[in-house]
Amino acid sequence: MSKKTILLFTVLLLVLSVTAAPKPKNVVFLIGDGMGIAQVYAGMVANGNTLTLEQFKHVGFSKTYSYDNFTTDSAAGGTALSSGIKTRNGMIGMNPDSTKVETILEQADRNGLATGIVVSCAVTHATPASYIAHQINRGMEEEIAADFLKTDVDVFIGGGRKYFEKRKDGRNLIDELKAKDYQIANNMDEVKKVKSGKLAGLVTDGHPAAMPDRGDMLPDATSTALNILKSNKKGFFLMIEGSQIDWGNHSNDVEFSNREMIDFDKTISKVLEFAKKDGKTLIIITADHETGGLTMPSGSLEKGEVKAKYTTGGHSGIVVPVFAFGPGAEEFTGFMENSSFKEKIAKLLKLK
Ligand code: MG
Ligand code: ZN
Repeated sequence: MSKKTILLFTVLLLVLSVTAAPKPKNVVFLIGDGMGIAQVYAGMVANGNTLTLEQFKHVGFSKTYSYDNFTTDSAAGGTALSSGIKTRNGMIGMNPDSTKVETILEQADRNGLATGIVVSCAVTHATPASYIAHQINRGMEEEIAADFLKTDVDVFIGGGRKYFEKRKDGRNLIDELKAKDYQIANNMDEVKKVKSGKLAGLVTDGHPAAMPDRGDMLPDATSTALNILKSNKKGFFLMIEGSQIDWGNHSNDVEFSNREMIDFDKTISKVLEFAKKDGKTLIIITADHETGGLTMPSGSLEKGEVKAKYTTGGHSGIVVPVFAFGPGAEEFTGFMENSSFKEKIAKLLKLK
């Protein structure tokens, strides 16, 4: 080859490497349960008119209706996000005809990526269950706990220890987890000590406390999970849920909602800090549905408060926001179905 030809090839390669859309190695998927636009903004006002979420420049909307209802519950909503299908309210990781569907976490695991779940509720509750379990009804929490043993999830942190050790069938899933090489952490001090390997962090018997009583459980558990999962050379998929935003709004208690929203945003800060440093991590943030039909006819930025008007004690059917950052973030703008995330993530991570 002449020097001229070599130069031409070099320039061509450079141009190609610059123009080809970069692909993520890792995906962190954050779900604010019940987090509509009003919950985000009320939290922002309460937090001095700012949230880390404002740094996300790729923004869209997710349509949350389920297979059988205009207004989804967290089981069908979680299953749509995790598994790419709309199903019946109440169902976990199953098609409307009760057949199992593979979740994005299971697919990532099958492709050799590390996987994790970090939540501020029991790990057997509807949203985390939707990523790892396959049950006809979300209320089957002992069956859901047993489904954790059927996977190779590397890290899971949340509450719900009682579903693993005080069971009707007499099985002790804590012993079974130990036999599968899991390190068991019974509180956050023990969680924070784990730097590698497999971790089952069951930090409370039932649900962790609401804010402010649970402290930095969610952001700290997130840091531990990121630190463990990052060592996998093929990358990782991590799902994190701000579980109790939903509960504050079921109670039509905007201050409860704000405390949970600000805790979720603090968790987002931890992930964003990691992603900025790493450069190969895609962050996607959305909700499974809105809760409470919240709006605010008035408020005060000086006082950091809104006048909350709730239209229901249940969920609403309105679209919810989507925020994305990192390689592939442009795929998550405009209007999208809640069932479109799995395929997009699988494609970006080149999963088979
Ligand atoms: Mg939930
Ligand atoms: Zn709810």
